[in-house]
Formats: sequence, structure tokens, C-alpha cells
Amino acid sequence: MRQILLLILLFVVGQWFVKALRRAQAQERPDAPPQPAAPPRSAGEARRNGGARPRTARPASLSEPMVRCAECGVHAPRSESVTAVGQSFCCNEHARKYTARSAGQDRAAR
Ligand SMILES: [Zn+2]
Repeated sequence: MRQILLLILLFVVGQWFVKALRRAQAQERPDAPPQPAAPPRSAGEARRNGGARPRTARPASLSEPMVRCAECGVHAPRSESVTAVGQSFCCNEHARKYTARSAGQDRAAR
């Protein structure tokens, strides 16, 4: 009977811990949804590879959130995207196209 109580206690503590962890992540980045952290690469693993460059060594592009172009649907890193009228675009050209079209639609509606 004592073991069952202990298991229940462990379960409750585990749930609480996960909740606290999620809350801490949300406070760190309120604009982005919580993402699973990449496992740290051990030094031994790098040595086993013989100094070869790992294929997944792109920390800058991996940590950066991707935004979808409202004009052509292409996904671009947020730092390279253009934001206009509350939408994200892959380039200035598409932002101009989109705003010009939406302005035309507004005029037609009136
Ligand atoms: Zn585009």
C-alpha cells in the first residue's frame, strides 16, 4: 500500500515539474510556442566522427522561427522576411504586390 502511495506522489510531482518547465519556457519567449530543446552533443561523439563536420550543424537557422510569405507561400527565416499590414513576406516585391492587391480589394468593396 505504501508503494502505491509513493507512485502516486511521484506522478503528481512529475506533472507539476512538467507544468513548471512549460511555464518557464513560455515566460522566456512569449511570442513563440515552446519548442523541444536539441540534445547537447557530447565531446565523445564529435571525436568519434573523426573531426568531420556534422550535417545538422546549423544552429542559427534551426533556432530561428520560420514565417510564411502571404503572397507566394514560401517559408523564410524571420530575420530575412518583410512584414507589412500584419503579414509576413519573403521579399519587398511580394509585400508591395500584396498590399497593392488588398488596397484594390478595399476600393472594390466600397
Ligand atoms: Zn513571396
